[in-house]
Amino acid sequence: MGAALAVSVSLLLAVAAGGCGGARDADSGGKVKVAASIPPLADFAKQVGGDRVEVELLVPAGASPHTYEPTSGQMKFLSEARLLILNGLELEAWATDILNKVGNSGLTKVETAAAIPEGDLIPAAGEEHEREDEGQEGEEHHHGIYDPHVWLDPRLAVHQVQAIRDALIETDPEHKQEYWDNASAFIEELEELDAWISEQVGAFTHRKFVAFHSSWAYFAARYGLEMVGVVEELPGKEPSAADVAGLVDDIQREGVKVVFAEPQFSPRAAEAVAEASGGEVKVAILDPLGNPEDPETDTFVKLLRHDVERMRQALE
Ligand SMILES: [Zn+2]
Repeated sequence: MGAALAVSVSLLLAVAAGGCGGARDADSGGKVKVAASIPPLADFAKQVGGDRVEVELLVPAGASPHTYEPTSGQMKFLSEARLLILNGLELEAWATDILNKVGNSGLTKVETAAAIPEGDLIPAAGEEHEREDEGQEGEEHHHGIYDPHVWLDPRLAVHQVQAIRDALIETDPEHKQEYWDNASAFIEELEELDAWISEQVGAFTHRKFVAFHSSWAYFAARYGLEMVGVVEELPGKEPSAADVAGLVDDIQREGVKVVFAEPQFSPRAAEAVAEASGGEVKVAILDPLGNPEDPETDTFVKLLRHDVERMRQALE
């Protein structure tokens, strides 16, 4: 019962918050301009900000935050914005120097992952390897010390929502109560989502999978799944023949049945790994980011429900 209610509430919110970009620009007087790097953070900002905010998503659907560069139109939005909501933990390598580039002294950068207790963070996969490689691969983006994909654990996402709430309250203290109440209601939804995921994942027959890159590490740790390996340690950098062979060994030894690909990257490498692993290993797509244009994944809650359903099909 709770689940059905949560879905219909988030549908209503999505319609209210995301309905009419163009019309709102014309009469956006008084709205707090907020830029957010990835769809889940843009959704959090809309959930907490409600009608008080105008949210611009920087990394569009289908693009990867690891390899993105903001457009000139987005730089213009940032020049008038009050908040830049980022994940942090070096997910957005392009944002390192962005405040200097924008030159808007009224713009505050919020690295939401900084609100997560350090003990809850997972070391980045391949960090050692990356350091050895440094200087050889040139301009490849890299992850930091900790794996950045924290939002895919809804309990850690609560800290990110709270960071956005606090930043909005600081920016627009007049509407403190509204931000506080919206955040509380949304956090309740995340708690229901967490309980629902635990129940679903608890019923899976298989617990092992190979991910496209490290995006599902927090999710797996939270819900007792095992990410046996990743196709690409640095997303966008194809695995070597030796990487593929090593991964195929792991898949066969561990009895892995599925390799997940991601819509932001070509499925080719995942397909090659699955094929080399033998007939029973299949490829399925998990989306770590969502798509504001797709009614199936246009909010964070819907995105995770959608991904858990994909996992269920692959792992039950
Ligand atoms: Zn990533």
